[in-house]
Amino acid sequence: MIVCKFGGSSVATASQIKKVKAIIDANAERNVVVVSAPGKRFKDDTKVTDLLYQCNDAVRAGASCRPVFSKIEERYHDIISGLKIQSRWLQPILDDVRLHIDAGSGPNYAASRGEYLNARIIAKYFGFEFLDTESLVILKADGSIDSRTYDNIRRVYKPGKKYVVPGFYGSNIEGKILTFARGGSDITGSIFSRALNATVYENWTDVSGVYGANPTIVEDAKPVAEMTYGEVRELSGVGAGVFQEEAIAPIYGTQIPINIKNTNRPEDVGTMIVPTRKGDDLVGLSAKKGYNRITVRKLMLFKQRGIRHALLTMMVVFGVRPAFSCYGIDSIVWYFDASLASDSVLRMMCQRLKDEFDLQEAFVEKGFSIVGVVGQGLPEHPEIVSKCAMCLQENHIRTVFINYGASDLSMLIGVPEGTEVEAQKVLAKALGF
Ligand code: ASP
Repeated sequence: MIVCKFGGSSVATASQIKKVKAIIDANAERNVVVVSAPGKRFKDDTKVTDLLYQCNDAVRAGASCRPVFSKIEERYHDIISGLKIQSRWLQPILDDVRLHIDAGSGPNYAASRGEYLNARIIAKYFGFEFLDTESLVILKADGSIDSRTYDNIRRVYKPGKKYVVPGFYGSNIEGKILTFARGGSDITGSIFSRALNATVYENWTDVSGVYGANPTIVEDAKPVAEMTYGEVRELSGVGAGVFQEEAIAPIYGTQIPINIKNTNRPEDVGTMIVPTRKGDDLVGLSAKKGYNRITVRKLMLFKQRGIRHALLTMMVVFGVRPAFSCYGIDSIVWYFDASLASDSVLRMMCQRLKDEFDLQEAFVEKGFSIVGVVGQGLPEHPEIVSKCAMCLQENHIRTVFINYGASDLSMLIGVPEGTEVEAQKVLAKALGF
């Protein structure tokens, strides 16, 4: 059997959902269809999930969600009338959702309803069973998947039957709805693929696979035919948006291939994401902006036992969880997501670190981007490091750090924020993406 997941743009309108139906009808093995909430219909449109978060914000600010919620109602009514299915059943459900949001049910409940409502409509249209994930997908306190999830799914699934499943949410052990990180319907698809041992997990989106470079930046970038679980994870970790960063975890350790496909061009083969592959080539590059860095300095720092851990523990108290690090003998630099802490929190944190650990210096600098070059050939080809460094230098882009060797699959290059677009262009050319 095949698990298919359709992303927000594939289920944004009635005409897109009709394309999804044609895809499902074309292969009798496509038994489980995981759907996102309606995404953007055009460039400046707002995703239903974002509207739902706005509803929750309105309620938190003491207002009613009604004005924003009416836009959501309109989206679903448009879909249902475009699909020409009976619609009377929908309004009471919409009213119930609105009342719950207005009663302060919180951001997780609000955001989860985008997928819930869309899945119910699509299930009706297809004539498939709607299978709610609320009591099936159980999340642990640290956000990881409770292993009971897989048994829950196997228990309710009847072979040969067809299901529509809402992505993006489950609930905690106490039964309270929790959503995944943004783009998390991919995770639901992975969970169902693993639970049901799918022959393939088809992940349908609006591009024909994972590109070697961002096609909006590098004009002639092309989809990559094959890459490994590890490679796609490294690429998503540095900003490639096609497959959600955390969605590999549930499927890791299985042999299930993931096929990234285009709903608007189903004939394209897309990208196959597989557990292992042959070859020592590179698969792609991507970049993520929005990093700050903290530098701490103290003579003989590396000799002081346990200090790194203690410094990190203190930083976490201030809400700063570093993503990348560079260790020296008398200094450490940690890069972290700039949205994690305000200027005043960072000032307090630096002062506290200095006082507590008797540091010579602790200071924050802002505005960095990380470019990741990904491929299992990297350890065999250290010349790629010098190629990239030279290419950036020739193009007057400052290299802030190069992290090579920490992973067998990727090399990370720090550049000043604002230069990451040009960096991707010149590196893609130099590396042949
Ligand atoms: N609807 C959610 C989001 O917009 C999850 C998803 O589409 O995968 O992030």
